[in-house]
Amino acid sequence: MKHAVNFVSLGPGDPELITVKGFKLLRQADVIYCPATLSVGDRINSRAADIVKALDIRPEKIRLFMLPMNRERKAAMESYDALYEKVKDAYAAGLDVSVVAEGDAGFYSSIQYVYDKLIDGGVEVKRIAGIPAFIAASAVAGLHIVKQEERLMVIPGILSAEDLAEKIEQGYVVVVMKLCACREAVLQCMESHPGYAYHYFENIGTDKEYHTDDCELLRKRKFPYFSLMILHK
Ligand code: SAH
Repeated sequence: MKHAVNFVSLGPGDPELITVKGFKLLRQADVIYCPATLSVGDRINSRAADIVKALDIRPEKIRLFMLPMNRERKAAMESYDALYEKVKDAYAAGLDVSVVAEGDAGFYSSIQYVYDKLIDGGVEVKRIAGIPAFIAASAVAGLHIVKQEERLMVIPGILSAEDLAEKIEQGYVVVVMKLCACREAVLQCMESHPGYAYHYFENIGTDKEYHTDDCELLRKRKFPYFSLMILHK
């Protein structure tokens, strides 16, 4: 196989939801770059590194790269540019390099910026598909997420209650990602359209996994970063 930098999708959080292909590549890698964030009290968190460690892969191979918590674009780009340089150098030195991302690495995944930049820089790259969080979520709830002629729309957290209701009235099943960014809109939609189904998911694939379709409970709940919703008529 041609020497390439592998972008390995980790799946939503349950280590067993990585693909066999992705797992094999991580096992053979010399270095694995994992995204990390700083939380309150300056604690470094990396769900990606936790998944990799749970797969019994040697932790010495893990290199963390820091992403700003608020995903502020300029700071994130600086971090990705620094990662690009490191990955390029490691590849040039003949190392087997993997870069990981949660869920699928090409689905609302800003790491694709580094992938594209490596191509422009003449580096061979390869991406390994993974299970996105919303697919894992629908399995948790046993949903037939779309059936027959139904259409699916994925919205990344920027919407109004009216937009949302309009899509549902048009017959779409709607997945709302980055739910923490549009909590009010979703709550308003619940008020005005109590008949819709509202499936809420949090931390899918982890020991903090939570699912409910009870709107009473949802009104009181804070939506963390790792939450999403599947709505339909
Ligand atoms: N590449 C990821 C998506 C990253 S965007 C994928 O393929 O799923 C980040 C958003 O994804 C979060 O705001 C949240 O809406 C959703 N998300 C990612 N992982 C999640 C999880 N384990 N549980 C619930 N939602 C999750």
